[in-house]
Amino acid sequence: MLRGLNMDRQLLISSLIEYAGRNHSNTEVVATDSTGRVHRTNWTQVHRRAQQVSGALRASGIKQGDRVGTIGWNDHRHLEVYYGITGIGSVLHTVNPRLREEQIAWIINHAEDQLVFVDPDFLSVAETIAPETVSVRSWIVLADEVPETSLRNAVAYEEWIKDNSPIEEWPILDEWSAATLCYTSGTTGNPKGVMQSHRSIVLQTWATCTGDGHDVNSSQSILLAVPMFHVNGWAIPFAAAMAGAKLVLPGPDMSPESIVRQIQEENVTFSAGVPTIWLSVVQHLQESGADVPSLNRLAVGGSAAPRSLMDTLEDDYEVFVSHVWGMTEMTQGSAGRFTHKVVGLDREEKRYRQAMAGRELYGVELRLIDGEGNDVERDGVTPGELLARGPWVAGSYFGLEDDSTHISEPDGVWLRTGDVATMDSEGYISIVDRAKDVIKSGGEWISSIELENAAVGAPGVAEAAAVGLPHDRWGERPLLLVVLEHDKELNPEEILESIKPHVASWWLPNDVVAVEEIPHTGTGKIDKKVLREQFSDFSWSN
Ligand code: AMP
Repeated sequence: MLRGLNMDRQLLISSLIEYAGRNHSNTEVVATDSTGRVHRTNWTQVHRRAQQVSGALRASGIKQGDRVGTIGWNDHRHLEVYYGITGIGSVLHTVNPRLREEQIAWIINHAEDQLVFVDPDFLSVAETIAPETVSVRSWIVLADEVPETSLRNAVAYEEWIKDNSPIEEWPILDEWSAATLCYTSGTTGNPKGVMQSHRSIVLQTWATCTGDGHDVNSSQSILLAVPMFHVNGWAIPFAAAMAGAKLVLPGPDMSPESIVRQIQEENVTFSAGVPTIWLSVVQHLQESGADVPSLNRLAVGGSAAPRSLMDTLEDDYEVFVSHVWGMTEMTQGSAGRFTHKVVGLDREEKRYRQAMAGRELYGVELRLIDGEGNDVERDGVTPGELLARGPWVAGSYFGLEDDSTHISEPDGVWLRTGDVATMDSEGYISIVDRAKDVIKSGGEWISSIELENAAVGAPGVAEAAAVGLPHDRWGERPLLLVVLEHDKELNPEEILESIKPHVASWWLPNDVVAVEEIPHTGTGKIDKKVLREQFSDFSWSN
């Protein structure tokens, strides 16, 4: 081999914050903490304080490869900790506080976290699980001082970083060193740990910054509406540093009022989050008459974004929606930026593509297979199981021997995503359903996602969920559950009429039931398992 003659520089997370620190002392990072206090800082200060975190971690005996947990909101301290932990080669293990306490304890024990940063809001969780999580030597409370607590080994973050000298230079690590650990939601079986290397994070961050990714750049003010405990906030905390973009971290209050206010006050141009958040923001904008003139683009994903959301945001507020698909195992796998050809098409054609779950993004190779493992054509109509591979796709899980989620082929390993999808020749994917949520009626498949998307466009419907329930004649039939808008009454015929033009007639739900709320998982997805249990005794009206 004739070797290329480039410099041997490792792809490290520390290089991102060093870059931002050098060049963006005038670029703001605005954060609201759990007391509601707004904290204005900049990338140079975030860099400096991350070095303080690293110094204090070293003084606490944290070594390369040790796992360090965080249970926090989106705020400046959590951001400093992201860089402080990874800078010295220890592993940032973000824990989802919305999980049940026993799941949190299970995850921390599995990861063997040595130290955990915890927001005061989650102190009671820490108190409950502390007796079981024996690997945790200290709990660093993300605050000025430690509130009243039964935790014996709790220290206040601000005291802890002040008492130790900052690290002056981060070590040059091997780019393959573990950097982050995030567990999958684990709706079936135990959660699985996805461990990303420095190399993987830097590469996926680059992809996030590309024009066809999230197009993160220095002219933007970004509101991070994705929790930093979920898939590293879709890599945006890293991308904002790589680009030197203004970053707005909203803290615990994710109400539509708070989001809209912060978009207005901080001149936010771009934001990212799950559809539920944007559905509530749109409803608030419509009811209050407020506007968000600075906002020009949203990345929406994590679950299917309904077409009606795109129509309203674009037609009424001039906000372009890039529909993205991804997973904990790879962060982002697609994005919805239009190709040159699509830009020239009419509104309907564009929206049709926008409602799909984005286009294959360079770096994550996608492929469909049928039940026998044969490749399915990219014809835009034939569904298959979606497989993925690439330099930032998880190749295996942390500490898990028995791995049925990957398949080995002669040319390498592929990740089975568990999603049933179609793909077209331009790389657009449409997620038909999670393999376990697809409704099997008379041997044919009904997409619960398509029914939900159509139902959300029906008059009076704020949110919808479709689940397959046992049916004597057809095996399974769809039941539609709807949360109604304020003061609206249930009118099943009107809702079904409104769905009719969007789906095959035999897909129409047999019954429509109004519910107070639809249960969501810790990562904001509709919890179909809970719904199927809740309605297990349901009797069909037809
Ligand atoms: P998680 O690992 O918790 O982020 O969940 C990943 C799963 O979320 C994927 O396998 C999909 O089932 C679902 N998902 C993510 N983005 C989308 C999307 N745009 N449309 C439909 N489902 C999505």
